[in-house]
Amino acid sequence: MSDLIAWLEGAPWPDALALLFLQNFAIFGLAWCGGTRLSRRFSRRRVALTPLAVTELEVCLACINVVSNTLITFAGWILWKAGVVRFRTDCGLLAVCDVVILIFVMDLALYGLHRLAHSRWFYPWLHRLHHTQTRPRALTLFIMHPAETLAFGGLWLVIIALWPCSWAGLSVYLVLNVVSGTLGHLGVEPFPDAWLRWPLVRWVAGGSFHAQHHQDVQHNYGFYTLIWDRLFGSIRPDYEDSFGQIPTWAESVPPGDLPGDQSAH
Ligand SMILES: [Zn+2]
Ligand SMILES: [Zn+2]
Repeated sequence: MSDLIAWLEGAPWPDALALLFLQNFAIFGLAWCGGTRLSRRFSRRRVALTPLAVTELEVCLACINVVSNTLITFAGWILWKAGVVRFRTDCGLLAVCDVVILIFVMDLALYGLHRLAHSRWFYPWLHRLHHTQTRPRALTLFIMHPAETLAFGGLWLVIIALWPCSWAGLSVYLVLNVVSGTLGHLGVEPFPDAWLRWPLVRWVAGGSFHAQHHQDVQHNYGFYTLIWDRLFGSIRPDYEDSFGQIPTWAESVPPGDLPGDQSAH
């Protein structure tokens, strides 16, 4: 890890950009392939209707997303080189604290940004593209408007500029972020029903939670946890009753539902 950091510090920008592109492309490939395998493995626990075949347009949009994510990480590299973003090198308890803090702070910030994305000002031209995917699958995680990807990434850069976390904590958080995003878009529920009875973990979002958001855009805005939806009353009342199954109301929600007024909340 220290060798990689040292290389990044002295690398010319085209080399750094190429490495960051490869890194983002590898994350995309792993999430798509791994997620697709998981969806097949748990195909008996579908939580959304089976998606249609992947189209060329969807793959193109996902590739644009990889480029957008690369631009975000490249901007992070520039800010790090300029000393605006700083990282610690410790790996102990403080690094564990970094992970916990990043998860909770980002969870709240993303919840707020996601609700804003559902407002009448942003939904029609920005977030609606993601919600054309009413039958989520692993690829759905990467189908977003480039401006939205840059906005979420910009928020991330602000947070790490304000919080000088460790490389170790940052790495673990980024892995958890991709795992969480992939789980949310599987279209199946890999966790057992007992998940809802276990303390603490029952607050962690699995496959059902975000799949419900893709079928009902007015609920379940959280990313990693259910905390903020429970606190602000935006969780679907039947979230637990529909856990691990296709909701009975799934077909009644039209694709990309949401003309102006309804979305404004
Ligand atoms: Zn989604
Ligand atoms: Zn949404």
